[in-house]
Amino acid sequence: MQSFCSQLKREGKKTGFVPTMGYLHEGHLSLVREAKKVSDTIIVSIFVNPTQFAPSEDLAKYPRDIEKDKVLLISENVDVLFLPEAEEIYPQDFQTYVNVQEVTRDFEGEKRPHHFKGVTTIVAILFNIVKPDCAVFGQKDAQQAAVIIQMVIDLKYDIKIIVAPIVREPDGLAMSSRNVYLSEKERKEALVLHSSLNCAESMIRAGERNTGVIVSSMMEIIKSVRSSKPDYIKIVSFEAFTEQDHLQNRMKYYILIACYIGSTRLIDNTVVEVS
Ligand code: AMP
Repeated sequence: MQSFCSQLKREGKKTGFVPTMGYLHEGHLSLVREAKKVSDTIIVSIFVNPTQFAPSEDLAKYPRDIEKDKVLLISENVDVLFLPEAEEIYPQDFQTYVNVQEVTRDFEGEKRPHHFKGVTTIVAILFNIVKPDCAVFGQKDAQQAAVIIQMVIDLKYDIKIIVAPIVREPDGLAMSSRNVYLSEKERKEALVLHSSLNCAESMIRAGERNTGVIVSSMMEIIKSVRSSKPDYIKIVSFEAFTEQDHLQNRMKYYILIACYIGSTRLIDNTVVEVS
């Protein structure tokens, strides 16, 4: 794979890369389409990365359907599917990890210690194999995108990072491979994530600037269904990804939410620009 990708570079081909964990849906395919806009060759990787899962998390039962994924990638005219084995990526004597210090500390980083270290390590390895000109990540995992952007700056990767918008189901639920874990009832109740984000946006449009007040209203919506257990709701600055008490005009923010629906942990977010 490494020499194949070096050959593409020598031929002057612009490579667009979309790293995924598979069980593909329209969200992943939207990243492929973004990559295509700026690339000659599209490479998608599917690798359920063990180092980003805690022992208590869902590595073993993470959904997989490689045959269906291949059909979807062929239908999108993806040029190369990179499907490495865990033993190739992490041989027995593997001992080097990449760790981004600050932007990994809170939110997902606090709730899932070691998660981002696993993410940055695998993305760094994949970047060194694929050597892409651009790589596309989803806003769905907003903090992950911020972490990757920081890693690319700090480690001087010559790779353009594109962050593509969240793709949602028609009723508003953000697409996720993990949505298959939801029962029929939970699937309906999971809509509270999107409703609470919509509520926050309306409050901000109506002039609310106190993030505590906004988060309380979001919590009420989340707690209105029985299966929900909020993990966190935070409003953070768009650039630095730091928590804010008060919103300022002409600034951009992420509203982040992580919430269990039954035993499934879902995340969602939206970007608001305060006028
Ligand atoms: P995953 O396979 O869950 O690791 O996701 C691979 C990439 O797809 C990540 O960059 C995600 O942020 C992105 N992604 C996942 N779900 C969505 C979605 N609903 N819309 C846009 N991008 C997504």
